[in-house]
Amino acid sequence: MGDFIVLLGPPGAGKGTQAQRLAQSLGMAHISSGDLFREHLKAQTELGKLAQSYMNRGELVPDDVTIAMVRERVGRPDCARGAILDGFPRTPAQAAALDEMLAELSGRVVSVPLIQVPAEVLIERLGGRWTCRAQGHVYHAKYNPPRVPGVCDIDGSELYQREDDLPATVARRIQVYLEQTAPLVDYYRQKGLLVEIDGTQPIEEVSARLLEAVEKARKAQS
Ligand code: ADP
Ligand code: AMP
Repeated sequence: MGDFIVLLGPPGAGKGTQAQRLAQSLGMAHISSGDLFREHLKAQTELGKLAQSYMNRGELVPDDVTIAMVRERVGRPDCARGAILDGFPRTPAQAAALDEMLAELSGRVVSVPLIQVPAEVLIERLGGRWTCRAQGHVYHAKYNPPRVPGVCDIDGSELYQREDDLPATVARRIQVYLEQTAPLVDYYRQKGLLVEIDGTQPIEEVSARLLEAVEKARKAQS
């Protein structure tokens, strides 16, 4: 049975950074719905073109296409032992769809860490974020700089600044998070799965707290 971990938190909280580290520590797949959309965009698929019109405005891509895309991804063999979900679910309808798809795959959500960071810090983090073209590895000009400016440490590809990290779009993305995604905090709290994590600490500290929380939850449910 696959154990799935849902990382919740506003844009810029550190979900992508932590998902990647946690996936490595636990030997699990990392699924980022934002990365999946950006791959479609790069390949100029119909889904990519549709998603772009929402992403550039900081709005959510409609539930039906988002759910179909993630359903296909969690069904792949590398998720048989579970995965770290980063950026999905983002609406109550997506959370219900996740429960359904995991039931079909005999999987379960074991822990939902909520990475908490105040809005002013989010704006500074996203303003300094540099993302790798090839695989979406993330850096920060001040808090997590690459060894060579403009080049990904891991795969050597070019680093770029996402269009939706411009201040006006960031403000809309935070608002969308509060309106559409924040209700999931109560949904998972009621299921006893929510764990609050202080996301203002340095990256390594946050990773250590997350790993502890996830291992405790998995032990309690084994
Ligand atoms: P999210 O996936 O939640 O949008 P990211 O993981 O992309 O967030 O992180 C946003 C930015 O903040 C990136 O530039 C990243 O390097 C930086 N960052 C992530 N975690 C921390 C942290 N704990 N302290 C300082 N900067 C961080
Ligand atoms: P992210 O990479 O998580 O910051 O996501 C970037 C953008 O992709 C978001 O602002 C949305 O437009 C879109 N997106 C990513 N995940 C979802 C999702 N689960 N539901 C709807 N839209 C999403």
